[in-house]
Amino acid sequence: MINKEWVLLTKYIIITGGVVSSVGKGITSASLGRILRSYGLKVAAIKIDPYLNWDSGTLNPYQHGEVFVTFDGMETDLDLGHYERFLDVELPGNSNITTGKVYESVIDKERKGEFLGACVQVIPHITDEIKHRIRDISESGDYDIVLIELGGTVGDIESQPFLEALRQLRNEEGLSNVMFVHVTFIPYLNAAGEFKTKPTQHSTKELRSTGINPDIIVCRSQEPIDKDLKQKIAHFCDVDSKAVVNTPDAGSIYEVPLVLDENNVGNLIADRLSLDVDANSSKLDSWREIVDLIKIDKPNVNIAIVGKYVELEDAYTSIREALIHAGADIPVNVNIEFISSDVDNLDTNLLKDLDGILIPGGFGERGVEGKLDAIDYAIENKIPIFGICLGMHSMVIQFARRNGYPNANSAEIDEDNKYPVIDLMEEQKKINNMGGTMRLGSYDCKLNKDTKSFEAYGEENISERHRHRFEFNNEFRKDLESKGLTVAGTSPDDFLVEIVEIKDHPWFVGCQFHPEFKSRPNRAHPLFVSFVKAAFDNSKNK
Ligand code: GLN
Repeated sequence: MINKEWVLLTKYIIITGGVVSSVGKGITSASLGRILRSYGLKVAAIKIDPYLNWDSGTLNPYQHGEVFVTFDGMETDLDLGHYERFLDVELPGNSNITTGKVYESVIDKERKGEFLGACVQVIPHITDEIKHRIRDISESGDYDIVLIELGGTVGDIESQPFLEALRQLRNEEGLSNVMFVHVTFIPYLNAAGEFKTKPTQHSTKELRSTGINPDIIVCRSQEPIDKDLKQKIAHFCDVDSKAVVNTPDAGSIYEVPLVLDENNVGNLIADRLSLDVDANSSKLDSWREIVDLIKIDKPNVNIAIVGKYVELEDAYTSIREALIHAGADIPVNVNIEFISSDVDNLDTNLLKDLDGILIPGGFGERGVEGKLDAIDYAIENKIPIFGICLGMHSMVIQFARRNGYPNANSAEIDEDNKYPVIDLMEEQKKINNMGGTMRLGSYDCKLNKDTKSFEAYGEENISERHRHRFEFNNEFRKDLESKGLTVAGTSPDDFLVEIVEIKDHPWFVGCQFHPEFKSRPNRAHPLFVSFVKAAFDNSKNK
């Protein structure tokens, strides 16, 4: 038997949420990860989504925000994007555990007779599968720490098997190797003129009824709360008063690691898990520099995002963050204006004062005509424009319509169109019939010299993440190129068109992939930087 003392032990930090959803567990988890990374620790992060969906692929962005795509092609929760940006890592798709995946595995094993006649139950079979999936991640690298964020709110029926599995994990791994952080919300009641701790007391009580005691309580609030209030929470929730930490609303999400650090959270974790690190002095200097760059006064650049999910900003989280990173890099302050493309005719007056236009991805017909109007306006008025995935498709459609293919369209939108400039590849048509679906995850791309894209990346071979079914239709390639469309990037075999540009325009770039997923606060994405720079130049010409 291996003596546990002699092997490198992975420690676990489990983050639960109380009182309300959207309280900021994802940012809190990502921020804890940033602090621990700054000590030189190797950190993995897991998001548990207790819903029944197998993955996030079929979730409506209106309900759950954007679908984040990992390098290995998993469609995951947007919190993985926060982890990747804050930790500066690339996480594998199995870092997102859902009830759908857990039950599928258990039922699959049952069908194969692997339980040897046992009655298959939530405890132990579902809870074992949950722990197995967590340990699979911790064993996939020499991780010092695995962060596990449990989605939803303590008390949700669907969270119960996960809380039980996490309680067992603490028991099996040992108290000194597993700790719990509970993130709650402290509402301010105008009528009473004070903050209220009762919801936090109740949600902690609910958590404790599952056998889990929090080691740290992170209290979210709109304004800072005082020491007495923290003391009260410590008293009622049975945690050390130093372990009640307040993170009031911050100007930028990237400030949260600094706020947690000022509250000595690194120290609390290092003590609680006996980490061999010097947590006494802050190691977040380079992170602070990024936050300062995001926050300092800078010239404004106004960017329109013209899409159909504009009512919920979270539908475009990674794009919004990538624009912020590019702004910090240049440095300019990027103001984002969300404009709905879900209209019959886009009122282009809305675009008049804007310096650049971004057309994001999407699925289906709704909102495409509005995107086409915005693209036409950008071509006519020479406004820098950046199209991503369906945005790139729309650019190709509009360019074709203007150049000899009236009413050209994508086969996704109009299957019987005479000029399907965007279509399924023959190979995909076959796969589709077999039930296969999208091109997902990282693919290599070769850039052509003398293009804006090559200039931006400064290298010929790149790799970017995809999430789509439809592709540029090569039948139209030669002719559209002869009319001024530039194919700036392709798959290494030159078969799939990955980036289009037009020459006679200050900045017109459409990419088939989603560059936003690889942008980092400390490493802004080259295409976003180049686009925002072009928009900044445009703002100066006004
Ligand atoms: N709906 C398009 C396709 O499936 C584009 C997808 C996207 O924008 N992510 O190809």
